[in-house]
Amino acid sequence: MMDDMLLKQLPSNTTVVRGAKLRDYTTFRLGGACPALIDCPDAQSLAETAKLLHGQSIGFLVVGQGSNLLVADAGIDSVVLRYCAEDAPDVRLDGSRVHVSGNTLLDDLARLAIEKGVGDLSFCSGIPGTVGGAISGNAGAFGRQIGDVVESVQLLDGKGHQREVAADELGFGYRSSILKQSGGIVLSAVLKLQPEDIQTMEKERGSIMELRRTKHPDWRTMPCAGSVFRNIEPTSAAERRQAAGWFLEEAGAKDFQVGAAHLFEKHANIIIADTGASARDVFELTEKMIAAVQEKFGFELEREITLLGEF
Ligand SMILES: Cc1cc2nc3c(=O)[nH]c(=O)nc-3n(C[C@H](O)[C@H](O)[C@H](O)COP(=O)(O)OP(=O)(O)OC[C@H]3O[C@@H](n4cnc5c(N)ncnc54)[C@H](O)[C@@H]3O)c2cc1C
Repeated sequence: MMDDMLLKQLPSNTTVVRGAKLRDYTTFRLGGACPALIDCPDAQSLAETAKLLHGQSIGFLVVGQGSNLLVADAGIDSVVLRYCAEDAPDVRLDGSRVHVSGNTLLDDLARLAIEKGVGDLSFCSGIPGTVGGAISGNAGAFGRQIGDVVESVQLLDGKGHQREVAADELGFGYRSSILKQSGGIVLSAVLKLQPEDIQTMEKERGSIMELRRTKHPDWRTMPCAGSVFRNIEPTSAAERRQAAGWFLEEAGAKDFQVGAAHLFEKHANIIIADTGASARDVFELTEKMIAAVQEKFGFELEREITLLGEF
């Protein structure tokens, strides 16, 4: 599939790991191998790599930090392009517009925007993942989401073609955008922010980080992928979205466990994969949670995490 001739044509700044174990690239630390993982450090290398693979009819998918993924134990068939700049945020300010690469970590973006006095992206503080992953899933917290501040996005399609797309064409909704279906890849984005008081934003960031420290698991020590299920859409305009965690607690799911996968003690919508857990354990635990809520409340929870491979 990935022959040596093809490898030689890849941009020189890419890194290829043949048979990469995807557990090494996800915050759940679960999942089998892919034929090859190509680390693309910038937009140009990602675009060139996509074009090259398309030209050779080699299927691929793009991941960021892997903080919203559950990869099957048997792995996946497609090549993975990783677009995640863990130590190299690329953020440029032009007035109150922010130009940011899709591989910049969302938390780095939040921190740098505050430093530059534009905001307010404090709500993104502490959310793992890349800007590209965040825009694709319209990540957010505290009733706010990244889609609210996106002005335009430089998109790459599966053939390696690029085009600039305005925010209103991205169909942002609760934890969704059209990119989830189209597979469009965010190379970079322009965000429209406003001048804001640095101290006020720093204070808000501080309290959000503290709240996350006390109420959420640290994925570096407790492998997880954040909320497993989407919150429940209101049935009328007067209502608010209801937390999936509340329904799970009421349905008695808090103590559920499959193998070494169990629920986080402080949040029934988060699964922790302890040492020895398999992706299958996590998947079966989500099935049990869905069944419990279905039985008690008569509706089906929808997964927020993305499943890759066969379950
Ligand atoms: C501890 C913890 C807390 C969390 N808290 C929150 C929270 O408060 N709010 C929230 O919304 N989420 C939260 N999450 C979930 C996760 O952080 C977000 O979904 C994040 O935006 C995923 O980004 P990623 O780069 O890791 O994407 P990945 O997990 O790598 O990929 C997720 C999806 O995005 C796609 N994708 C990745 N990069 C791109 C790109 N450049 N262009 C297009 N598509 C792309 C992938 O193909 C895949 O379909 C949390 C996760 C953890 C582990």
